[in-house]
Order: sequence, then C-alpha cells, then structure tokens
Amino acid sequence: MQLVRSVSQAKKIIASIKKRGMKIGLVPTMGYLHEGHLSLVRIARKKCDFLVVSVFVNPTQFGPEEDFRKYPRDLKRDLRLLKLEGVDLVFYPSVSQMYPDGFRTYVEVVEWSRLLCGASRPIHFRGVTTVVLKFFNIVQPDIAVFGSKDFQQAVIIKKMVKELNLNVRIVTGRIVRESDGLAMSSRNKYLSEKERKNAAVLYQSLKSVKRAYKKGLRKPRPAVEMMAKMIEQKGGGIDYIQTVDKDTLEPVKKLKKGTLIAVAVFFGRTRLIDNILL
Ligand code: AMP
Repeated sequence: MQLVRSVSQAKKIIASIKKRGMKIGLVPTMGYLHEGHLSLVRIARKKCDFLVVSVFVNPTQFGPEEDFRKYPRDLKRDLRLLKLEGVDLVFYPSVSQMYPDGFRTYVEVVEWSRLLCGASRPIHFRGVTTVVLKFFNIVQPDIAVFGSKDFQQAVIIKKMVKELNLNVRIVTGRIVRESDGLAMSSRNKYLSEKERKNAAVLYQSLKSVKRAYKKGLRKPRPAVEMMAKMIEQKGGGIDYIQTVDKDTLEPVKKLKKGTLIAVAVFFGRTRLIDNILL
C-alpha cells in the first residue's frame, strides 16, 4: 500500500495504472475511519483492480463556526485499517496541495446544495462537490463509492456526475450502525456519555415512522411531529426533519415508497444526521 501526499505523484501513479488497463476505484473519506467507511472500502475492493482511498479533512466544506480544526484525525490507525482491507493507494494530501494560495474555482449543484443540510450549512455542499471533482480528476476512478448515511451528498454527487458528463459510476453503500442503532460517524466521538445514549433515539424515531407508514400512515406532518416529540424527549435539538423524494430531494405531499425521511439533530454541540428510506 502506497501513501501519497502530492497531487503530481498521485497523477503519475494513476497514469501508469491506466496504461495497464486496470479498473480504478475510489472511496473518499475524511479519515478517523470506522466500520461505515470500511464497508465502502470492501464494496469498492470487489469492483476494481486498483483501489484508492483518500483521507482529507476538507476545509472548504466546513463553515467558519464549524469543527474543521477539532475534527478527529488519526492517520496511523487509518493506514493500519486500510492496509488490512487491501487498499492499493492512500491519497493523503495537505490543504495546500488541494487548495494552493489564490484558489478560486468551485463547482456547485445549485439549489440542491441549499436543501436539507444545506439550509443550515450553506457552503457545505459546494465544498464537497469541489473537492470530489478534484479527486475524480486526480484519481480518474471508474467507480467511486459513497455512503447513504450522507444521502443528500450522494444524490448531489450523482447529479454533478450526470450534468458534467463525468466518466465515473457512483455506487452507494448502506448505513452501518452501532448495536443500539446509532449511525456510525467520526463525530460520535464528540458526544458525552449521556448524549451518546440519547442519540440512539434518532434511528428509533426513524423506525417508528417507517412502522407507522407500514400500518397506513401517509401524511408527512404527523410523521414529522411524532419524530420531533421522541427526539426532543431525549434532549435533541432539531435542525430539520424532512420527508422528501429520494431522487430530487423535493418535499413530498404523501409518504410513499421511495420517500426519504431525513433528520439532523444537535446533541449538545454535536450535529448528527440520519435517514431511512420508505
Ligand atoms: P466522511 O469521512 O464522514 O466524510 O465519510 C466518508 C464516506 O463514508 C461518505 O461517503 C459517508 O457517507 C460514508 N459513511 C460515513 N458514515 C457511514 C456509515 N455509518 N455507514 C456507511 N457509510 C458511511
């Protein structure tokens, strides 16, 4: 497994891999890896000949008041885990490699980048699409794997790929959860013991709505109210709870197959997201 820190070195290696006709896979991450990330690595490993994982805490997707500086990092551990998964190349660029002084170019999936998480994190998705497009250009993957925990991110990236005619197939992996149902996230580390316990309500509330839907509930409003009540009882501060179409992210008038229930909640200062598909 090679560890590459410079864009030029990565491009050189990729050029030689391409020449050999090998199929390249990419899993972009911000590191501090957990089983959720590793599940994506395993999906990608099966679908390609040369597997690249990027580890980069991307400053352009964090707002000025957000946790860029204190985002958890542990490269040594990440490398150990990735080696065990048979990764070929870890791309670990510095911020200045990705964003040299005077950087000016961004790509944005307009409007969709302001829905859901984008309402409270207005520059987030512009940062995501920009860095992912840069990774695509550097690594030239045939396939790239994203987690459906960040459902909106995956939808927005698919949209960018389609509209910019990129030659990469986007594959999504399912959400990996802790034993109490909390979706795995590098940010779970921020939670106090009590917050961590209470945070299990996120998935419980999503499952309650899905159960109610199976019993015939079709109105979004009572579904959202039911979730809000459960979450607030556990001290969660709701950023949003929305029922949207899984492909367009448009709010739905009626719950149906393919409706995504998406939620973002603060436990203390930690913002967690989760979702479930009906
Ligand atoms: P991050 O390091 O948080 O930027 O995540 C990198 C990739 O891992 C993204 O595609 C995420 O959607 C995915 N991911 C994060 N958490 C999970 C999880 N619990 N299950 C599945 N995929 C995940």
